[in-house]
Amino acid sequence: MTEVFEGSCLCGTIKYQTRSRPKAVSHCHCNQCRKSHGAAFASYGSVLRIDLHVSQGRACLESYQSSDSVLRQFCQTCGASLFWSNTQGKYSDWISIALGTLDTKFTSGKQKHVEVASHAPWYEICDDWTQSDQALGIRKHPSMGGLGETRTYPWQGCSVYRTLGNAPLALQKLTQLCSIIANDPVRMRILRMVKEQQLPDCWVAAGFVRSAIWDEFHQRHTSTLPEDVDVIWFDRAQATAVVDAHYEAALRSMDSTVKWSVKNQARMHLRNADLPYTSATDAMTYWPETATAIAVRLTESGIEVAAPFGLDDLFDLIVRPTARFQFEKRQEYLNRLRLKNWLATWPDLKILAAD
Ligand SMILES: [Zn+2]
Ligand SMILES: [Zn+2]
Repeated sequence: MTEVFEGSCLCGTIKYQTRSRPKAVSHCHCNQCRKSHGAAFASYGSVLRIDLHVSQGRACLESYQSSDSVLRQFCQTCGASLFWSNTQGKYSDWISIALGTLDTKFTSGKQKHVEVASHAPWYEICDDWTQSDQALGIRKHPSMGGLGETRTYPWQGCSVYRTLGNAPLALQKLTQLCSIIANDPVRMRILRMVKEQQLPDCWVAAGFVRSAIWDEFHQRHTSTLPEDVDVIWFDRAQATAVVDAHYEAALRSMDSTVKWSVKNQARMHLRNADLPYTSATDAMTYWPETATAIAVRLTESGIEVAAPFGLDDLFDLIVRPTARFQFEKRQEYLNRLRLKNWLATWPDLKILAAD
């Protein structure tokens, strides 16, 4: 039996039906769709043109050509947006239906947000559907971010271990990481000072953890701190540089010998031209190397570790660029390697994608 989906405009003058289920359900955040719908985004599902039949009020269907090849169709009487189509390109046989005009019950288990870079600043995308943007050329999959996708492992040796996606849980490495940190009085003192700030989703990340492990595996007896101690936290309600500066000053007043860097990751996507991050752990997946995207913190129950890409690269002394730094930001990665000159301090490192 063929499924038939029916829809109509606001005033009921135009009625349509389609013999196939709308596919490629997408919420478009582009400026034109926002204007055309007077809303935060336009929700469309596409069907083959030959499957769409306007059964009533065809004469009232008005068209507006919003760009060279894009046609937006709406009801002349009530103004309801109905169809979107592109007369050029590989999808010219398809037409997109504004899903809000469907009268038949319709559900879709797969949806995506598109053109998210131009999203309305007053609206925040909070669901887990895939997000993409053509101009930025980036995609964010649910499996890569969102607290809902964070796997946490309550575990005695280190109270919680957070990872994302399919990164394997490596208990032995976890134990070792926690014990290296726990046996380093300098690092423990720093973790205690950070804990006192009581910031939400707050961690000490990057070189603070990375150098501790690299030093250990190079038999360097004491591990010096990296130049900057990166304190990261996440709170959308306090995402300003002023607030970060306030906490930096608070930490400096506790120990002025440490070069504190406090950054609320809820604002850092702007600097990095990324999509908004969903948590401190998610933010780290946009950092340059997998071994850098590891953070620790102190809680009442002990040391917690966040490692969205797992611990393997760090423990195998591998410097591996994350996906974006392999291609789009490759030059930035290469410049960074040159600047850091890690091999001078840790000769056993295996630096990948450096030529
Ligand atoms: Zn109408
Ligand atoms: Zn659009």
